[in-house]
Amino acid sequence: MASLGRHIIVEYYDCAPEALNDVTHIEKSMEGAAVEAGATIINSTFHHFSPYGVSGVVVIEESHLAIHTWPEYGYASVDLFTCGESVDPWVSYQYLKEAFKAAHGSAVELKRGELALLSKKDFDIHQLRDEKSTDAGEPIRTRDVWFTERDDKIALSMKHNGKLYDQQSAFQRVEVYETQAYGNMLTLDGMVMTTEKDEYVYHEMIAHVPVLTHPNPKRVLIIGGGDGGTAREILRHTDLEEVVMVEIDEKVIEACKLHLPNIASALDDPRLDLIVDDGIKYVNEAPDGSFDVVIVDSTDPVGPAEGLFSIDFYKEVYRILSPNGVMVTQSESPRFNNKVFKEVYQVYRSIFGLDKVHCYLAYIPTYPTGMWSFSYSTKGASHPLKGFDLNKSKEFAEKNGLNYYNEDVHSAAFALPNFVKQMIDQ
Ligand code: SAM
Repeated sequence: MASLGRHIIVEYYDCAPEALNDVTHIEKSMEGAAVEAGATIINSTFHHFSPYGVSGVVVIEESHLAIHTWPEYGYASVDLFTCGESVDPWVSYQYLKEAFKAAHGSAVELKRGELALLSKKDFDIHQLRDEKSTDAGEPIRTRDVWFTERDDKIALSMKHNGKLYDQQSAFQRVEVYETQAYGNMLTLDGMVMTTEKDEYVYHEMIAHVPVLTHPNPKRVLIIGGGDGGTAREILRHTDLEEVVMVEIDEKVIEACKLHLPNIASALDDPRLDLIVDDGIKYVNEAPDGSFDVVIVDSTDPVGPAEGLFSIDFYKEVYRILSPNGVMVTQSESPRFNNKVFKEVYQVYRSIFGLDKVHCYLAYIPTYPTGMWSFSYSTKGASHPLKGFDLNKSKEFAEKNGLNYYNEDVHSAAFALPNFVKQMIDQ
């Protein structure tokens, strides 16, 4: 390598003005261009000027990509700066040309930091190295690095010390971050799935509410739940005869066993029948009435999980439930994804019946808006509150040293604010 870096100075002409004024599109395109070229994104920031025009930077481990747009001229100027051999900036050039529908582009490549012109300074390099650099001297990102999950209106950011796991599976990008405030954190396709610090809220609420309210639960099926937290909580119920978990992505299981061992602690439990397969296929092939509790611990309705939010899937769940069977799903946030929230409750009600579907809430700081919901649908006489044995719940929570769930939280969780009631009744 004759130089430290390659700097391609790019001009895109006759682009689609609306594309050059769409900050979300530009951000997605610039991040996509980085990933396509083989770069690892550290962080990015984009700004939409008023009345128009966008500026933004994507910081990558291999340097940066930057853009400034003039929609009124259909013109964008872009800097593609990379160091090292692993990233090809020309791939980004072509990717962005298509993304901005540029009629034509011109580009000049400059070698930056020509080694022939540089001489290594004679000083103790170790003094420069921050304490986190690896012994081999590879740079590791310093402290001010933020993970951000965002949609086009809101975002959640967490400082982290780096990535512990990063693999593209057949279904999704599986990443584990070492966050500073919430411990290790699993993300799938850039969305927070679980963190060591607040996982118990989600896992205790999705597991104990159905099992402690079903009259006589023996067989439980978990769809998804690859981090293992739901299985861990379910296996606290020692009277159960069978617990089956069907997770589609073995990379999720691998990542969690390696970097979230407390959450994944039950994944090797001999009482757990762990199957790596599509949960939709498993449910379609399961016999009628074969489970007392079915828990759908899925990601958001995207990618492999899209079908887990479909009416056909829920009808099949209804079929495989025993007479008093209960289905509990993570039903998104009434605050964050209210369209999906409203739709799924109408679907649950159309299958289980109006008075057989209940919603309960819990507060998970690392989920969008922090307000998350679970649906509770029953085929028979089970009810989340009527006949609910407070003492059994209290004893169970105390005996297991639970962090969130108890008999009062159970009851309170079904007390819904008016705006949520209205969304469900619509
Ligand atoms: N608590 C998280 C949430 O609310 O977003 C979900 C956690 S869990 C990690 C979700 C799991 O569902 C993922 O491991 C994902 O691979 C799995 N999954 C998605 N679609 C699936 C499918 N069709 N069958 C089985 N598992 C699926």
